[in-house]
Amino acid sequence: MISNFAGEFLLHPCALEYSGATCSHRCCYCFASIRNKNISAKLRETFNFFNNLNSGESVAKRLFRAGFAFCMSNRTDPLSDNNVADTMILTDILNNQPNGVWWQTKGGKRQYELLDKLSPNKNCIYITITTPRDETSKWIEPAAPVSSSRIEFAKECSRRGFFTVVALNPLHRDWCTAKEAENMIADLKAAGVHNFYFQELHISKTEEAVLEPWRRERMPDLAANRRNADGSNYTADIAEEVMKDRTLNVFVANMPFGTEMFVEARKTLGRCFPTQFDFINYHLKNGKDTYTFEDFYNAVCCHSDLKTFCETDIGALGGYVFCVNRAAWREDKSAQHIRTFRELLQLYWNDYRFSASPQNNPLFDDYGGEVDENGNLILVKNNAS
Ligand code: SF4
Repeated sequence: MISNFAGEFLLHPCALEYSGATCSHRCCYCFASIRNKNISAKLRETFNFFNNLNSGESVAKRLFRAGFAFCMSNRTDPLSDNNVADTMILTDILNNQPNGVWWQTKGGKRQYELLDKLSPNKNCIYITITTPRDETSKWIEPAAPVSSSRIEFAKECSRRGFFTVVALNPLHRDWCTAKEAENMIADLKAAGVHNFYFQELHISKTEEAVLEPWRRERMPDLAANRRNADGSNYTADIAEEVMKDRTLNVFVANMPFGTEMFVEARKTLGRCFPTQFDFINYHLKNGKDTYTFEDFYNAVCCHSDLKTFCETDIGALGGYVFCVNRAAWREDKSAQHIRTFRELLQLYWNDYRFSASPQNNPLFDDYGGEVDENGNLILVKNNAS
């Protein structure tokens, strides 16, 4: 199914995502399959989307027609055994479209066949590697290719000239020690991989309570993950260490550092959505002490054509609000009826409950809740960060 990439707004440069059927890689921590055990995908619906691309005014079609980049796939793996046949067909369709494609995968039996079909000029490859140990990957991701296969795949993507990202996602100290992460990153860097994405394992208490026994058995100690003995954050510490190498691009959501990862990815993907790092990079380069929503808006929509697009009535966008922040959706009737991405950005700016809001970045602080003449919050540089 093709849908708006609503859950990753301001976190990911792609505007659209495709999801296949429930992924057969069976990772014990798979947030998508824990939340929804039966994700279905009908190829016919996808064909209809492309066959009728020019008729119909759904937000997804308008985004695709406007050339925005496409993510394959965030909630399923396009190379898992049960999805790969559909993926190969879709690849032929996507190859005939101008939109850039960001592939997210752990690989699969036909990974090199897929690579042969793709051009590095419009495709980025993001490969998840949770552990350098094959025996651990077999235990936690029983039907996915083992880690050594993914590491080799990442190196081959890089050798073939693809913009390649390796994601240590989810990261847990039982699966990947700091030393193992350091060695794996050095090995990948030597093969030309320069982009690393980090995200800690996070399973909510509600999700933990409903885990199927086979998942629970394979899950590490969830409470032990986040903090080091000195109270620092395990994932952030590893990322910060990697960041010391200025030749590497690092991404951690809401981190108080800039990154060139998406600046570079856009050269391959073409037209993209803004991300929170457009604002963070802007702040770190041109730092002011005080920011208004207009500063933020101008930083994330620095191209006039993106600004024009964000100010266009694109259709009902309340689904973006509902997807990320149900409380805001319930409490604010006007949020349910927004129709422009500028309005959505304004909600993110003013409400910290959207996790990608600049308010959640340690670089900024609110100005005692003070607002400007338009009623938008004023943020100040956090001198403590
Ligand atoms: S590869 Fe991704 S989508 Fe597939 S089971 Fe693992 S985490 Fe879920």
